[in-house]
Amino acid sequence: MCGIVGFAGKEPAAKFLLEGLSKLEYRGYDSAGIATLSEGGFTVKKSTERIESLKADTADGAKLNGNIGIGHTRWATHGAPSIPNAHPHLSADGNFAVVHNGIIENYSEIKAELESEGFKFVSQTDTEVIPMLLQKYYKGDLMQAVRAVAARLEGSYALGILCADYPETIVATRKFSPLIIGIGEGCNIIASDVTAIVSHTKNVIFPEDGEIAFITADKAELFDANGNAIEKEISAIGWDVAAAEKGGYDHFMMKEIKEQPRAIAQTVESRIKGREIVFEDLKLDTEKLKSFNRIQIIACGSAYHAGIVGKYVFEELLRIPTEVDIASEYRYRNPITDDKTLVIIISQSGETADTLAALKEARELGAHTLAIVNVVGSSIAKAADDIIYTWAGPEIAVATTKGYTTQLAVIYMFAVWAARKLGSAPVERIEAMFDGLLKLPEATEKALLCEDTVKEAAKDLTDTESMFFIGRNIDYAVALEASLKLKEISYIHSEAYAAGELKHGTISLIEEDRTVVALCSYQRLLDKMLSNVKEVSARGGHIVACTTEGNTNVESNAQRVIYIPETDPLLTASVEIIPFQLYSYYVALYKGCDIDKPRNLAKSVTVE
Ligand code: GLU
Repeated sequence: MCGIVGFAGKEPAAKFLLEGLSKLEYRGYDSAGIATLSEGGFTVKKSTERIESLKADTADGAKLNGNIGIGHTRWATHGAPSIPNAHPHLSADGNFAVVHNGIIENYSEIKAELESEGFKFVSQTDTEVIPMLLQKYYKGDLMQAVRAVAARLEGSYALGILCADYPETIVATRKFSPLIIGIGEGCNIIASDVTAIVSHTKNVIFPEDGEIAFITADKAELFDANGNAIEKEISAIGWDVAAAEKGGYDHFMMKEIKEQPRAIAQTVESRIKGREIVFEDLKLDTEKLKSFNRIQIIACGSAYHAGIVGKYVFEELLRIPTEVDIASEYRYRNPITDDKTLVIIISQSGETADTLAALKEARELGAHTLAIVNVVGSSIAKAADDIIYTWAGPEIAVATTKGYTTQLAVIYMFAVWAARKLGSAPVERIEAMFDGLLKLPEATEKALLCEDTVKEAAKDLTDTESMFFIGRNIDYAVALEASLKLKEISYIHSEAYAAGELKHGTISLIEEDRTVVALCSYQRLLDKMLSNVKEVSARGGHIVACTTEGNTNVESNAQRVIYIPETDPLLTASVEIIPFQLYSYYVALYKGCDIDKPRNLAKSVTVE
């Protein structure tokens, strides 16, 4: 999820590794480390501070011998940020060093197996099983050991591997996690991100999933998953560092919008074993679940909007009354919370001050608190009784996209998990939702195909000063988030309204050419929505509608229609928000706004 670098050359590796890690700092990380290999074996240095401190500790790398090495910036997913959990990780016999990006989904089974065979682990990471497995399978042939280990690993990984018996070679391999090879002069490089490479070479090889690279100072050899040598094209990259940081996009926000299918897959698939949903370390059990007579979801901003989706989902599947509270309101309203309340706290950063304070208040009142956060070891993660992490990876754009959709993914998963335990909805209903959840990454991928239509629709908005988003049920929850996204980055005033509520006052603001985005994807209420759309049209409103494929009857009621793929109705929000993330992005782009850093906003709001 974060950064990898590796260097095989004819000069000391540490200086290059530290420079490479500095180039990856922009992504955010919680700890870092490097390992170099020389005649004396591995030298490993780690830090939970900035890369600068690693540089200071090692005299810019001069204290580390060896012309070959690997480095890592960690974005913790398993185990808090700490020195033992920072990468590189070594095998018990010290023969292997490994850096890893991603999540090993079956690590607990592997760890239990290895522990029963006497392997002693020193970290809480999923990663540490990899050097241990390498030790177990290594019989003198490195390729054979790497293939045997890859065959055991489920999940996502980009790996940089060093073996003390092969003092000139870095092995690199990947599955669902980026990794590239830079072909230099007198050196070859691996990195998770072009940024760490471009200042050295523009010539790169892009290995595919499952392929294995053996890299020395003089050559980079590629093999398929069966160990057969393959030829790979060397491509020249035209990006400069600034473009490379954004994966070739102009803004982090666009990069993160496009990362959503993968981020959702990572968040969901890691927890699914067959048809079971497994949340590691969750203290909540069936007995405790049965004791709840109320759910309170507490959050701010987009996380609050994810909570509103949660209310619809929980009330339908769990049949437990669910309230959604703005954290700064919850604290000061003498809330009715007790030991029969499940309080769900949602925060991307895990540091939101209002949310943290509300969490403490809820705990004092006796509630069981469950946090949904993206940052491992954050204050909210530490303070809650239970945590389910979103595995969105670092989010850099201030306006959240993949943070929000992965929060939704956790909400859906938790609802299915709890509904199965409580038997609170018909089995077919719960299982249909589960099937929909499995298909969610694909549905989000398809939703991204609306980009051209949305780009055109966004052109209509550049002179708009005020507009509306309307919807019912889940469409209303999406309207809230879509409206916020537009406000945040394009500075256009917009309001989200429950479509049926418009006529109770606000319809007085509808006049000739007022843009109204009508979210019409929640099939059960489509006819009612179309009546509301007609009310707006009759007053001259310019309608941009969003609906699921096949609902062509929407076309006669709207100036523009954006189609999204059909999903389980309760999952609609994840798919429907995508066009409006793109819509906000393009409106802001046409208006020349600072998309990644909108005025007056901060990524993590740590003040009340
Ligand atoms: N899952 C690994 C860990 O928690 C790797 C995280 C990363 O990609 O930075 O250590």
